[in-house]
Amino acid sequence: MIEKYTFEGEKKGVKLLVFAAIHGNETAGTNAIRRLLKEFEAGKIKLCSGCLTLVPVCNAQAYAKDVRQIDENLNRVIKIFEEPKTYEQGLANELCPLIKKHDVLLDLHSTHCEGDVPFAFCDYPDENNQKLIAGLDVGYVLEGWPQIYAGNCEIEDFSTERAAHDFGKTATTLECGYHKSVEAIEIAYNAIINMLAGFEMIEKEKPAERPKTHILMQGYVVKKKEGKLCKNYKHLDKIKAGETIARYDNGEVLTAPNDGFILLPNLRAEIGAEWYYFGIEKS
Ligand SMILES: [Zn+2]
Repeated sequence: MIEKYTFEGEKKGVKLLVFAAIHGNETAGTNAIRRLLKEFEAGKIKLCSGCLTLVPVCNAQAYAKDVRQIDENLNRVIKIFEEPKTYEQGLANELCPLIKKHDVLLDLHSTHCEGDVPFAFCDYPDENNQKLIAGLDVGYVLEGWPQIYAGNCEIEDFSTERAAHDFGKTATTLECGYHKSVEAIEIAYNAIINMLAGFEMIEKEKPAERPKTHILMQGYVVKKKEGKLCKNYKHLDKIKAGETIARYDNGEVLTAPNDGFILLPNLRAEIGAEWYYFGIEKS
């Protein structure tokens, strides 16, 4: 059984679900939830309306080993499996009913490099998750993930956001910054508190909205053979049309299709895996 904690307010309200450590080594959300649980226990926070479920560790075995996954990426298999064949598929069978039972999902992740800028994914923008995103203390929101994978059988994408969308719910994924940074825990903690305030589930003023740059993802590049990225690119670095981004060992080069941003570059990508993504600012 996945470890989870549910709190009920006296009044009816939003049912909020918070996931952490879908990827076992992304522990900022886990630490933030543990801090919040202590505050609930000490009576420092009280839910006045709605229902809150906190899942501090979605992938327990990967968490115990401080690795991303055991058999496969849990955030690509969030659907019901009649006969689960991997550890993560079994987890998905426990997580899906939870998503179905709630209205809103906040999925807390973190990223690989020191200094990474926090940002949110919003795969299926709607009125509700715009409210949700408004309360997040991030400057960037990435949209369009499902579209870049649509009609592509290379990689199947059953993410937590996809599951929420399929069940008629709403969700956002918050990338809190570098896994091991203290600031990432703070971002995760504040995100939960701000959401509780935003949905009037606790007595606290709604946070002021931080201005955000919305980036429309346009595509991704799979590393096809040995090669290198031309710079130590960081997520959200600006790129210029025609700029050489990567070079294969056989001399072939990959260039930026237009002015925009490089997203989620993976300097150590294996052959066959996503190397980097790119996008433009949404007008
Ligand atoms: Zn993650």
